[in-house]
Amino acid sequence: MKFDDLARKIEKGKRITSEEAISLFREYPLSLLAKIANDIKEEKYGNKVTFIVDRNINYTNICEVRCKFCAFSRDEEDSDAYVLSEEEILNKVEEAVNMGATQVMLQGGLYRKTDLYYITNIFSLIKKRFPQISIHSLTATEIDYFSKIHNLSIEEVLTKLKESGLSSLPGGGAEILVDKVRKIISPKKISSSKWLQIHEKAHLLGLKSTATMVIGHRETIEDRILHLERIRKLQDKTGGFLSFIPWIYYPGKTELGGTKTTSVDYLRTLAVARIFMDNIPHVQASWLTVGKKTAQMALYFGADDLGSIMLEENVVRATGHNAVRMAIDEMVNLIKSADRKPAQRKTDFTIVREFN
Ligand code: SF4
Repeated sequence: MKFDDLARKIEKGKRITSEEAISLFREYPLSLLAKIANDIKEEKYGNKVTFIVDRNINYTNICEVRCKFCAFSRDEEDSDAYVLSEEEILNKVEEAVNMGATQVMLQGGLYRKTDLYYITNIFSLIKKRFPQISIHSLTATEIDYFSKIHNLSIEEVLTKLKESGLSSLPGGGAEILVDKVRKIISPKKISSSKWLQIHEKAHLLGLKSTATMVIGHRETIEDRILHLERIRKLQDKTGGFLSFIPWIYYPGKTELGGTKTTSVDYLRTLAVARIFMDNIPHVQASWLTVGKKTAQMALYFGADDLGSIMLEENVVRATGHNAVRMAIDEMVNLIKSADRKPAQRKTDFTIVREFN
């Protein structure tokens, strides 16, 4: 199919195939790819770009899995290994609420002492003290771990978490939903079908989630498109994904090593995702991993959301990357200087306030 034919097909709102997505990625001029993705974004959201104020709270850095791309995790006996107490977590939530956060994201390593009792107790305490805050927390990897160590089904774990205050699941742990690559980058982590199954079960229980993809490690373009296809297929079934968030792998201080991929590679991937994932409402650019300038560019490649003002972030910072903080004013200015209209949102994308 020639460039014009495929562009016309997309313009008519027709779904593209995986082969067409690969062709878009490999052959289309960057400017045309940007235009097609941006037109889709503009039609849905006009000039608006959203962001959220939240705090990432990593309750422990001790992890039994030790993925090769992860610079954050530690063994129990390491001198800088930690587990946060109830009080430390509640203080962090309180600070976040006082700074205008509407969401907290608790995530941690896989460690027997931070089990389902520890987590549900923390969630209940957070909701009791701060009923207004959304608990958008835990990855499919943690859900699977709780299911194994407590001998409970995934549904039982998710139900207990929901009852204690969990409102939605972030998409971490997806990396690339292709097992041959997962075996290289995170051999002990859950399989791609398990990740999808956990999100499906969460959706069926009324918990929304986000889907992520990490690029620039050992995957091919075909692997990326297969990842998108698997998420699109699940979304057709459940409609539970709120947004799609591609990140880039940060090689600093990791066992896997390698070099960081380019901004152009990121922007092409983001644009293809916006075009291909016709059933996922929002596409988020990860300013944290690609940098603020590339994130601004992404607002012209199909992204309608810049994710979170990170009041605290530890996982990417562990790779040696220090630009992990942004104030609300800076985010607003970043969006305005890209000639877009900023709006603060909640987890479910309802608008808290708009900035003129
Ligand atoms: S990415 Fe998660 S599961 Fe993997 S080592 Fe790091 S903390 Fe553990």
